[in-house]
Amino acid sequence: MLAWLAVVLLAVLACVIVMVGMFATAWRRTLAQVEASGLRYRMRCESCGHEFSLSPREFARIGMRRSRSATRTRVEGPMLVNEPHYRYVAKRFVCPACGEKVWCENLNANEARDAVNPIALRNFGLALAVLVVIGFAVRAVLA
Ligand SMILES: [Zn+2]
Repeated sequence: MLAWLAVVLLAVLACVIVMVGMFATAWRRTLAQVEASGLRYRMRCESCGHEFSLSPREFARIGMRRSRSATRTRVEGPMLVNEPHYRYVAKRFVCPACGEKVWCENLNANEARDAVNPIALRNFGLALAVLVVIGFAVRAVLA
């Protein structure tokens, strides 16, 4: 009985490891492909108004983020995609002009979303359930 329990626990553990591995691989691929697409995030410091640009890798850095959006549902192949239309996206960064860590508005959030979505869909498209959950995670960080 105990042996079976150990087998079941190991199987669950293996599934979790595979899922984490899939997520990590897809995430690395997505980030590399978004970088390769040449997408730049145009940012504007909300304190001094200075405009600067960031690479996807720099933009994806962990930090506070806030946004306002309206969600539109769209059909993409066999899937329903919930696509946010951003009115406002900002993230806290150290402004290169005033040197303060302040809210910086992302001026091309919808353009970034259009560049990131197809890449994310391709890499995370293995399972719809996985895609929905991870798609939100990707958007939360990248778009
Ligand atoms: Zn500034």
